[in-house]
Amino acid sequence: MRDRPDLLPAGIDLRTKRYLTAFALFTLILLIVIWYLLPPQDQITLVSQTGSDSATVLLDGWRTACDVDDEVHRGSGRVGNMQPGTSCTSEVAVFAIDNAMQLVTPVTVWTNASTDVVTVPMTTPLNVPLTAWVLTGIAADPVVNASRADAVYNSMQAGISFHNVDVRDYHTQTAITVAACERLETLKTAYPPVASRVNAYYVQTVTTDTTVANGATVPTSVPGKWCEGTNPAIILMGAWYTETLAHELGHAFSLQHSDSWAASSSSSATNDNLMLSSSISRSKLTIGQAFRVNVHNTSWLKQNSLGTALARSCPDSQTPTARCPAISFDVQPK
Ligand SMILES: [Zn+2]
Repeated sequence: MRDRPDLLPAGIDLRTKRYLTAFALFTLILLIVIWYLLPPQDQITLVSQTGSDSATVLLDGWRTACDVDDEVHRGSGRVGNMQPGTSCTSEVAVFAIDNAMQLVTPVTVWTNASTDVVTVPMTTPLNVPLTAWVLTGIAADPVVNASRADAVYNSMQAGISFHNVDVRDYHTQTAITVAACERLETLKTAYPPVASRVNAYYVQTVTTDTTVANGATVPTSVPGKWCEGTNPAIILMGAWYTETLAHELGHAFSLQHSDSWAASSSSSATNDNLMLSSSISRSKLTIGQAFRVNVHNTSWLKQNSLGTALARSCPDSQTPTARCPAISFDVQPK
């Protein structure tokens, strides 16, 4: 067997190794010393988080003035010296994959000292109760669609899930083939929607009334439609695409179409946004949208008292304030 040729004499190689080891040790000790010598800082600590996602943390409050607004942090960490600013919105919002959104407001632990710790207990995602009435297609359709919705909302840190869909399979029995939000009575009489749940009806054709040139309204086919009631809540599913259910659920959670603001952005979260009115690729939500899903008072979740206790008015069109981030506000990567 041939010896491996040494590029350096054995003695120098050993010495280099020793130098490198000593240097690494010295650097480590230096870093530890610097860490202890640095002035202490207030901290945000996430506890009981499921999984290892790099959580998106938005911080609002007073540091040297009331101007900390949607300052982005990732996971637990130091945040400088936050102060107990009076009349200043002081809160912490946390978003993470496989966890419900958390909103601590107002934050009352900040003092003038720089050793305060805000502890944010994380919880499992909110499961949205979904009943699917299958009047066409197959019983697995809503399961597939709910699974897709689950993937979109979870990967975008929105903190909600769609597990255990309650499927009512009537596809061999129904004479109802067309449905419209404007004319729901026949459908609701035959298949009464379940209160306090989102009810998705799968029919062959869904229409919506559209006003044409002469002022008349004509029914026009659409892939799906949110019927805007909050209890019972109704979504109609027609010739759906993979993301149609997730998109209509977005409307149920108060989100409007993103076309106007998405057009001016180069962010992937807006280019492929779930709330585009039409797209072949709708898979993303911004943090501004995830915030509204959980907090805006017209979201189905708020109307049914699910999730964060607090509800506030944050319509899509709201000019950004300390209490409502911009709808297009996003943090990547999620
Ligand atoms: Zn839509």
